[in-house]
Amino acid sequence: MHQDDQHPDKTFVSHFPGHWPGVSPEDWNDWKWQMRHRVTTVEQLEKLIPLEPGERAGVILSGTKLSLGVTPHFFNLIDPENPECPIRRQVIPRMEEATTSPEEMADPCGEDAHMPVEGLVHRYPDRVLFLVTDRCASYCRYCTRSRVVSGAGDQELHTNFEEIFRYLEKHTEVRDVLLSGGDALLFSDERLDYLLGRLRAIPHIEFVRIGSRVPIFLPQRVTPALCAVLRKHHPLWMSVHVNHPRELTVEVRDALGRLADHGVPLGNQSVLLRGVNDDLPTMLALVHKLLQCRVRPYYLYQCDLIRGSAHLRAPVSKGIEIIEGLRGFTSGYAVPQFVIDAPGGGGKVPVNPGYVIYHDKEKVVFRNFEGKIFEYPEAGDPAILQETVPDGLFEDYIYS
Ligand SMILES: *Cc1c(COP(=O)(O)O)cnc(C)c1O
Repeated sequence: MHQDDQHPDKTFVSHFPGHWPGVSPEDWNDWKWQMRHRVTTVEQLEKLIPLEPGERAGVILSGTKLSLGVTPHFFNLIDPENPECPIRRQVIPRMEEATTSPEEMADPCGEDAHMPVEGLVHRYPDRVLFLVTDRCASYCRYCTRSRVVSGAGDQELHTNFEEIFRYLEKHTEVRDVLLSGGDALLFSDERLDYLLGRLRAIPHIEFVRIGSRVPIFLPQRVTPALCAVLRKHHPLWMSVHVNHPRELTVEVRDALGRLADHGVPLGNQSVLLRGVNDDLPTMLALVHKLLQCRVRPYYLYQCDLIRGSAHLRAPVSKGIEIIEGLRGFTSGYAVPQFVIDAPGGGGKVPVNPGYVIYHDKEKVVFRNFEGKIFEYPEAGDPAILQETVPDGLFEDYIYS
């Protein structure tokens, strides 16, 4: 018996047909049917689940900020009886969204300041973020790009594809292109094939990846035909976005399996969210299910300082505590890197539990996951170290 087998969402469950009892399996499994039947209005929502007053107001307010949109597949994961359901908290707007705390921003990661061409963020030396669309299959209430995503806010995304291709052709230092948005997997197979083909024709681009929540919100989109398109453009990697173990349903597991079978290496990016996944048992169940789906937990993000996100943000100390509870206690492959995307545009910065207790020219003293203390003699010729390292530098680094 593992520690997390107790978790109610540890097993893979299908929630078909749930709130859509009359639907045929053919329709349900058609991603366009799912998109056409998304829950997007307060009237639809009210017919499906009892609403809290704060949610009714939240949905109305969301119309001028970030649209409400939930695929039937994902909607079925909501526990109608539980107003604090971790799935519900991610996709159903609440009144609190209308409150902006002083520390919150429209563009918390400073992306707009690093856009040489509209739709392309070039923040790091060798890689770029290519925003191909402003649409997603469903809308996460804590979306870091809610200023442009869904089309409801006051900013619009006008990606200039040809100008971006020209920029990428000219900038030979770019070896890694990350497609995001919005969600690139909402494009038709043909459009995606064309886009990936254009990128693949640029010789210095070694690595292409897609950041997508479509396999989670809309697993029906991951058809054999889509997988065949993706396989044509290898090496192609994908980062998916799962926050809670219940999101890994039978359909999602099968979709991820198809991607893996077509040679797409899969990573997961979770956001630490209050009342969703800010506890160790939930995270353990999540990372263990991810490994079963052949997905390597990649990043755990501290929630960005997006406007109206205070009710969803968990403390950084909680994230560190969760990583501490994973490292050593479970497979190394199951442990993501906890990062803060530095407010204002500093990029992703790793935040780790402190294992190094003391470090100088002679030795490093550290603790293991159980709290036992160890010492390792510092390597290298102390005379050479003395010459190359300014005096006092190591001594300054005393971690606690
Ligand atoms: C996250 C991100 C990347 C990719 O970062 P990795 O650490 O390589 O995954 C690239 N550009 C921008 C602007 C990003 O926010």
